[in-house]
Order: sequence, then C-alpha cells, then structure tokens
Amino acid sequence: MTTAPSHLFYQSRQPRPFLDRGEGIYLFDESGKRYIDGSSGAMVSNIGHSNPTVLAKMKVQMDKATFGYRLHFSTHPSEDLAAKLAGLMPEGLDRIFFVSGGSEAVETAEKLARQYAVTQGQESRWKVISRTPAYHGGTLGALALTGGKLFAGPFAPMFQDMPHVKAPQTYLDRDNLTDEERGIKYAEMLRERIEAEGPETVLAFIMEPVGGASTGALVAPDSYYKRIREICDEYGVFLIYDEVMTGAGRTGKFLACEHWGITPDIIAMSKGLGAGYAPLGAVAARSDMVEALLDAGGFLHGFTYAGNPLSCSAGLAVLEEMEDHDIIGNCARMGEVLMSRLEGLMERYPFIGHVRGKGLLTAFEMVSDRETMAPLPKEMNAYSELVELAYERGLIIYSRRTRGGVEGDHFLICPPLIVTEPQIGEIMAILTDALDTFAANHDL
Ligand code: PLP
Repeated sequence: MTTAPSHLFYQSRQPRPFLDRGEGIYLFDESGKRYIDGSSGAMVSNIGHSNPTVLAKMKVQMDKATFGYRLHFSTHPSEDLAAKLAGLMPEGLDRIFFVSGGSEAVETAEKLARQYAVTQGQESRWKVISRTPAYHGGTLGALALTGGKLFAGPFAPMFQDMPHVKAPQTYLDRDNLTDEERGIKYAEMLRERIEAEGPETVLAFIMEPVGGASTGALVAPDSYYKRIREICDEYGVFLIYDEVMTGAGRTGKFLACEHWGITPDIIAMSKGLGAGYAPLGAVAARSDMVEALLDAGGFLHGFTYAGNPLSCSAGLAVLEEMEDHDIIGNCARMGEVLMSRLEGLMERYPFIGHVRGKGLLTAFEMVSDRETMAPLPKEMNAYSELVELAYERGLIIYSRRTRGGVEGDHFLICPPLIVTEPQIGEIMAILTDALDTFAANHDL
C-alpha cells in the first residue's frame, strides 16, 4: 500500500491508500481498487463524486475569476446562491451569510445571535445551551458547544464551557413512558437548564435536528421538537438548528426542520451544500435580525474566503443538480429501503441493538445485550474493527465509540443521495460479509 507523505499529518499515523478518482457513489485508489463511499466521506458527498455537470459549471466560473474579495466585489454566484438558498429556507429566514465549513457556520450563528441581542439592549444574554452528546465543530468556540471528553478533553481550559442538556437518547431509557412523553421529558430539561442558569443570561439553544456522528443519527420523538420551540419562545431564547450534516437533502427533505414544521431563528449549514466540490457553508437568519445589525454599524464578523465565487458556483450547481434529478426525493425513497434492510440485520445479528435515522442519515448500534442496551466490551474495539473489515472489502462506513459519556459502538451508513436500490444491495452484501467475519472473530 502506498502510504501518505510523511510531511503531512492529521489525527493519527493510520496509513491510507492514495485516492485516484471518484465516480458517482464509488471511489478508486491508485491500485485500481474500488470502494463504495458508504458514508459520503463525512456525510458530505451528497450528489456523488465527479458529477460532470457540476464540474463544467465550476469550470465556467474558474475561467472567469476564482476569487474576488467580498468587500471589493459582489459576484453572481454568491448573489444567486444566496437567493436560491433563501427560497429553500423556512418562511422569514431569508438572509444568508457564507462561510467555508461547519465550525465557521456554527460560530457565525452564535455571534450573530449575540450581536443582535446586544443591539436590543440584552447584553446579559450570552450563554448558548447545547446538548450532550453533540458535535458542533472543532474550533474552540464550536468546541465549547460540542463539549465532552472525547473532543474537548485537553482543550477545556481554553474556552468558556457552555451549559448542556441531555440529548434525547430515548432508546436507552427503560421507563414506562410513551415515546412522546419521553420527548416532552427531554425538552423540559431545557426549561430546567434555562431556569437554573438564569433566563436573562441565556442567549440561544443549539441542536442537531437529527444527530450526526455524536449520537449516530439520533431522531427525537415528534413532541420534542415542538416543545423545544415553545420553550425557546417562552424565554426569548434563539433556537439555532445545526443543519451542517442534515441540510442539503440528507434526511429526505432539504432541511431536517421541515419534517417537524419547525422554524428555527438561525440555521447553520455546510457539508452537502458544497457536496465535496468546494469548501462551503452558510448561515440563514431572520431579516429583522440582520437589518438590526446592519443598522447598528454592521455584523462584526467575516472570513477571508467567505462567499468566494468558485465555492458559490459549486454550491449553485449542486442545488441545480439536486433539483434537476429529484435527488432529495431519491434520498427519501432510498432511505426507506436502506432502513428496512438495516432493520433486517437485527434478525441475523443479536449484537445489533438499535437501528435509527432519517432519509439517508442512518445508523445502527452494537450492544452486548439488547434488553439493557449494555455496550460491547471496550477492548473489543468493535467500532474500528468493523470499519476496517468493511474497508478491506471495499465499503467505507463511519463509526464512533461513544453515546455521551456512556460507551457504545455506532455505525453510520450514509451513502450519496443518488444511490440506487441495486447499489444498496451491494452495500448490504459487503456489510453482511464484514459483520459475519466480525461475529466469527468474537464468537458472537
Ligand atoms: N456541526 C455538525 C452537526 C457536524 O456534523 C460538523 C462536522 O462533522 C460540524 C458542525 C463541523 O463542521 P466542519 O468539520 O466542517 O467544521
């Protein structure tokens, strides 16, 4: 195997083969080996790899100008993408701020809420309550929201930790409540937290509408979403939806908030927006908030590459491709197929304890006991072993060993939204082969 150049470093020393090219849901390394991109990278490549129409549209922009600083020029790709996105947002969220990634989007949302509150004479409001587990990004500001040992560990003294509430992992609860009652129970934890912090100090609540890597595609009971919105309204707390992973069609609607008819005050997006063709993120906010900031002298925020015409031309081309080929509709249909195939795995493997998700953001969790949902022993390293077994067989999946302070191995299966039913069959065949080997290796 060709290893990565030694000058380059990321999280670990794990060598990976050199990527040669991509085609639809497939990636090929330099030896010619084919991989199914069963996690769309990190839930990014929503429309698949090397889409020729997107590349051609980017090339048109590339030949004109790849950069023009936004304080010097406006550009058609950024204006057109902002207009298109505004049309896809819930009513009222029609002002768009571009960034280059998810962490930047989350921090932009926080700063926007804070500066707006200050313009309204509410200087006392600064705390942003988040859920645990959650993932909101790796920069220090986003890390304060992400929290937890796994990501924040050694960095904790470097940021002001924000208050947290438990994410609604109702599948772990063993009580006599109905799912809807559990949804209310978890939502009410936000009210308790706001009261405990002092309502006049709380600026916002941020949540992933469907959890990503942190909780493994966690979907809350319907009652949760509605009650959270009500509590935020009651206390004048901004509701920020982190749709960095769920946005751009991943859950079978353009935004996950549409599933519950919720209008957040601010939405952060990235990943599927540029879909791997260019680094791109966006924040959508209410017009009255943006106008208040502009009236008060401007939004004190910005990034050099924000709104660059090349990324925006990619984003625009990706959205057009999604519309032209009903890619979100395909996601909703294929999501149901994939979910039922994953549920089928529970009959074959007693160590698969839970299957969950929405659209093509799906996951399963391994346990040693389905009744108690006790995890597999840590030493088994299931989360990395299964990923490697699948990788060897040409299937890329995504995993984590955490479910918020509690151990638990979950695996995300999130192929590009263009996946077909036969391709889901290919994914399941490799996954089953890898699971058979995993079971044999551990006598499960
Ligand atoms: N928010 C969510 C929900 C995410 O899943 C991620 C990344 O995985 C981020 C924020 C951070 O995005 P980025 O890695 O692009 O900074």
